[in-house]
Amino acid sequence: MAIPFRTMLRRALDFFRKNDIDWGIFGFIAGYHVVLAIALPVYLGFGSPSLPLLAWTLALLTVTMLSITMGYHRLFSHRTYEAAGIVEWLLVFFGSVTLQGSIVKWSHDHRLHHKHVDRDGDPYGTQLGFWHSHVLWMFKRQAPVNESLVKDLLRDPVIRSQHEHYLAWAIGSNVITTVGIGLLAGDLWGGFVFAFLLRLFLSHHGTWFINSIAHIWGSRPYSTEHSAVNNFVIALLTFGEGYHNYHHTFAGDYRNGIKWYHFDPSKHMIWLLSKVGLTRNLKRVGDLTIKKRLVAADRALLLDHLRSVAHESLAGWRQAGQERLDHAHESLAGWRHAGQERLDHAHEAYLARIEATRRRVEEASHAVVARIAELKEAVDAYRAARRVARREEVTAAKARIAALRAEVQAEWKAWQQLVNEVLSVRPVSA
Ligand SMILES: [Zn+2]
Ligand SMILES: [Zn+2]
Repeated sequence: MAIPFRTMLRRALDFFRKNDIDWGIFGFIAGYHVVLAIALPVYLGFGSPSLPLLAWTLALLTVTMLSITMGYHRLFSHRTYEAAGIVEWLLVFFGSVTLQGSIVKWSHDHRLHHKHVDRDGDPYGTQLGFWHSHVLWMFKRQAPVNESLVKDLLRDPVIRSQHEHYLAWAIGSNVITTVGIGLLAGDLWGGFVFAFLLRLFLSHHGTWFINSIAHIWGSRPYSTEHSAVNNFVIALLTFGEGYHNYHHTFAGDYRNGIKWYHFDPSKHMIWLLSKVGLTRNLKRVGDLTIKKRLVAADRALLLDHLRSVAHESLAGWRQAGQERLDHAHESLAGWRHAGQERLDHAHEAYLARIEATRRRVEEASHAVVARIAELKEAVDAYRAARRVARREEVTAAKARIAALRAEVQAEWKAWQQLVNEVLSVRPVSA
């Protein structure tokens, strides 16, 4: 989540390069932040704020925040109840103190936000990131208000006056409240630092959080079709607007936090005023409709869960199957290698046996031929001895011939055996 400072700086520079910037609004917002950052430490350096100053500042902060949540948002943008003229006038006046633009412009943007939430056309959608929805969107030069979206508001003379003379309302209401608190607390400089600068800072960011973190961090029990979330901490910071998932699901309900333990002072104030006749016709969505919506949201959640479980299981099985297949391929390669080795060994052994037999054939044939040659020589010697009639030599030659004949006979027999043996050798089959 943490983004390096350099990346943030690059993105900010990109934003200012790529967009048509309203330098007046940028100058005012950036400027008062800088003035506050200097003035507050300087003030505290000289002393502490008085209790009345802090109490009046807190009261103004509360009233102005309620003017946004009860007034700009739930009354004027969404028409979730009706208010008596005096309440409406007070909401317009203290809404002007917040310096968040006219009711017409604010409601126009907010109605677009609900209509196009998270998509193009949503002026402060989080689809462009946290900082865009929190503050950057205001720095872009805005298109003129589409009056058809705010016809109902323009019919009201007080609201129309605030829109057409916004600067007068804004400056007048701030001068009155700031100077008024300064005088009441007997500290004009403190009034400027606390009741104007610090109060403005807190109420601005309190409201901007609804557009930024109330669309990012929290639960979405009523609908997952938009990015709005429910978040108790944001409810504390935004005077009850933190149940934003409920609000985007049932924008026509004057409540945002619907349980008794939900922190929603805006709802309580509207309800209290209705008890003294200052507000009326409070619109609320019935419990059964809410339950039906919860079931639908749960159903979507469960189906989503089942889909993701099935998807994960299938992916797991596919992976396991692939691993087994890879393993089988490896085994097969191993077997093929071992088989090849065995075949090579058998081949070599077979060739060696054939070679040995071939040598035996050579040797045996030589032996037979040599023996026959010797016998021939012995026969010739016998004949020669007979011609000269040497008795002893004749006898010796006869004996030698007889011995050689026996030897040739034996060699022949061995040869015949070898011939039969070799001829019986057949090709080996697997
Ligand atoms: Zn929203
Ligand atoms: Zn709204």
